[in-house]
Amino acid sequence: MEEDSERHSNSYLRRRHSGNGDRLRLDTAESSPPRSRLVRENFKYFPVQIPSSQVLMERIVERVRGVEKLKEITTKSISVPLLLNSAGLPIDQVPEDYHEPFILNGYRCHNIGAYQSLRSGFLERNNEAINVWTHFLPSVYFLWRFCNHLGSVEYGDAYFTPWFLYSLTLVMYPMLSSLAHALNNMSVRARHICFFVDYLGCSWYTVGAAILYHAYSFPSEALGSVFDRYFIWIAGLNAVLSTGTASASRFLPPGKVRKTVRVLAFGLPYLYDSLPLFYRFYTGTEHPSELAALDLFFRKFIMTSLALFFYGFHVPERILPGRFDIIGHSHQLFHISSAVASSYQMEGSWLDLQARRGLLQLPNHAQHVACASLVAWSVLAINTGIVLFFAWRIMTAPAPPAVIVRKTVPSPVETKSLQN
Ligand SMILES: [Zn+2]
Repeated sequence: MEEDSERHSNSYLRRRHSGNGDRLRLDTAESSPPRSRLVRENFKYFPVQIPSSQVLMERIVERVRGVEKLKEITTKSISVPLLLNSAGLPIDQVPEDYHEPFILNGYRCHNIGAYQSLRSGFLERNNEAINVWTHFLPSVYFLWRFCNHLGSVEYGDAYFTPWFLYSLTLVMYPMLSSLAHALNNMSVRARHICFFVDYLGCSWYTVGAAILYHAYSFPSEALGSVFDRYFIWIAGLNAVLSTGTASASRFLPPGKVRKTVRVLAFGLPYLYDSLPLFYRFYTGTEHPSELAALDLFFRKFIMTSLALFFYGFHVPERILPGRFDIIGHSHQLFHISSAVASSYQMEGSWLDLQARRGLLQLPNHAQHVACASLVAWSVLAINTGIVLFFAWRIMTAPAPPAVIVRKTVPSPVETKSLQN
């Protein structure tokens, strides 16, 4: 059987190569037999079965399914979506609550679960990913520096209690900010609540900074003054007002007023906390370790000013809208500048902590520390209450827009329902 097939096949090839093939094509063209018969006659010498069209279709479908399956497996197994995934949605495909000034693309899908939200925030390529990382990494870094300094701490010594309180607020504020940026696309309501929590972290950090300066960086000339006695209490009040004002600003329409309110909500407590340092800059010092600390504090002021500039003026995306959607926009620069400023603050105060112990530790130091702890925990409790209040307002507000499918532009009425 195999010999027959081979013989037929060879004779067919001989006919083709000796020129008879041309004759055959000419003959068939003249007599014009049906094409299907011609195909059968030409191929009947081959030892292969020509599948029917139905079988062919089934095979094609099978192949296509195989390729789809392979794509699915590849996408799931390779977890480096920063390189693979799309860069998000354009601005007209997300509700107005998500819009960022001068950012035109790279928005994430919304109305999704917490896991997907975290995954898109940490691992996908969009306009939030670097916001998430630029506060997540500093939080880890601050925790690491805190652990490094632990070796020099004398446990049970109340002198270090303010430093512990400050370190807690320092690690917490970027971590809460990072989570707020990662989780805010779960829903429009979740977005507001996430940023209420973010404001809580930022304002609590201003209390931590005030406690830090009061304990280790306060001007020795001001000890025992009215300013000394009420410094932390006023910082606590500022933090409460800051959380309330910044949270309430989310109910204002987007624009300059809202931005100004938010900048002032955090800028004024920052300026108040820095008064002791301004005084020390003004009076100066000749002690080398204090000079080193003041140098770090000066760098901190530069970086904080930069942070406020980026936050307030939306540069560079204001100059070239759409060019910095994924990398390089002002909020990322704001995060980086504020984290670097905090780093200088932490190191500068650590120098003060070591160098100024004899200068600052008064007989009533334990009383000061107890006061600082009371203010810190009270502010956290009150701010948590403020966040819960605004969260309740958001949850009881008219329903936010339903799931917005891709390529669906929300109506202004829907997207503004939470702002009114
Ligand atoms: Zn942020």
